[in-house]
Amino acid sequence: MTRYEHLAREYGTPLYVYDLDEVEKARDQLLGSLPEEFHLFYALKANPHPELVRALRGDGTAKGCRPEISSTGELASVLEAGFDGSEVMYTGPGKTFEELREAMSLGVRMFSTDSVTDVQHVGQVAGELGVTAQVLLRVNSASASATTSIRMTGTPSQFGFDSETLGEVLPDVRAVSHVDIVGFHFFPLSNARDEDSLIAEFQGTIALAAQLQAELDLPLKFLDIGGGFTVPYAVPGPRGTYPKLRVELGAALDTHFPGWRENGPQLACESGRYLIGASGTLLAGVSNVKVSRGRKFVILDAGINTFGGMSGLGRLLPVAVQPDEGAEAVDQASLVGPLCTPGDILGREIKLPALQAGDVVTIPNAGAYGPTASLLMFLGRPAPTEVVVRGDEVVSVSRIEHVRSYSQVSADRP
Ligand SMILES: *Cc1c(COP(=O)(O)O)cnc(C)c1O
Repeated sequence: MTRYEHLAREYGTPLYVYDLDEVEKARDQLLGSLPEEFHLFYALKANPHPELVRALRGDGTAKGCRPEISSTGELASVLEAGFDGSEVMYTGPGKTFEELREAMSLGVRMFSTDSVTDVQHVGQVAGELGVTAQVLLRVNSASASATTSIRMTGTPSQFGFDSETLGEVLPDVRAVSHVDIVGFHFFPLSNARDEDSLIAEFQGTIALAAQLQAELDLPLKFLDIGGGFTVPYAVPGPRGTYPKLRVELGAALDTHFPGWRENGPQLACESGRYLIGASGTLLAGVSNVKVSRGRKFVILDAGINTFGGMSGLGRLLPVAVQPDEGAEAVDQASLVGPLCTPGDILGREIKLPALQAGDVVTIPNAGAYGPTASLLMFLGRPAPTEVVVRGDEVVSVSRIEHVRSYSQVSADRP
């Protein structure tokens, strides 16, 4: 029996297995691809599991990541993982006053902002609490260069200040008290196709940051140039490699920010999927196999309620699962989930070994955008169990619970 079969037997399916050794490898690989002065933020959106966040934080012996969050739920994971609020970058276009209060009360000071009113909200709460918030202006640049499946810039958007009108609104931003405008945040793309296009995007971003700094007379202390680092999504294959990136980033920064290594700005990149994608494996049980009009359907106990459910929104890659089977692929079938919707398809007409009810399918590279990016509550099945291992040792076993909790309804309600 393989290690995965053992785990599936012990904990049942669907089961996520995350390997912390693999998390640390990805962290060290990406940090090693960047100039050593860079900070690397981990976007918890990709997977907020506190054990993974803890592994990315590191134990002080090696350089670790800092957390990038967008909710107080993610903040709870970050604090559970041992981070201090002061290490956090808080992003997102819809920060509420309640969230800002909670975040600042728990020590968060750095906020990426998307509009003048967003900066005003941050300043208002900072003022209430008697603190100063460090504000990054997220920039939605007018043009962009890399090829990617997911682009977040260059078009009208809830994200960021439009680069071409930033100068016009800057006086209003500068008028906000209790905030210190420390720099820019760019996140133009996700999952860049290859290293050359990623480098081209970063070069464009660095040039634009320098241009905006000069035009707006805004001294930058901090510059987050975004991400786009790639890893396969639920199909076999290795993480992207970036052998030229370190030198190319250094060169672009030397050109546009001479002396940056000594005098700043502090540079940062960010990633979600790259850091944890390969650490995760999804084990799904085969509930049934059926043939319809000559086509075979392998029905799993994990569908879009467990994995990739957000794909339909176009913000994730389409689900196109390819299991990592030792056995030879002899069959062609569709891998579908258990939900009562024809949309519950993980893989259409793919090559598979001969499968029958009771077998376990192993889906690789499933560590990012898994349970929390899925339709977890749709059709009311329990969430998958998540096991964290380090090599052969099981570190933690958990499952997200969703329960309806009732509030007291007063009798004299209208
Ligand atoms: C989603 C997101 C990320 C992470 O994207 P990946 O493709 O998982 O690396 C990083 N930063 C921001 C601002 C994001 O919205």
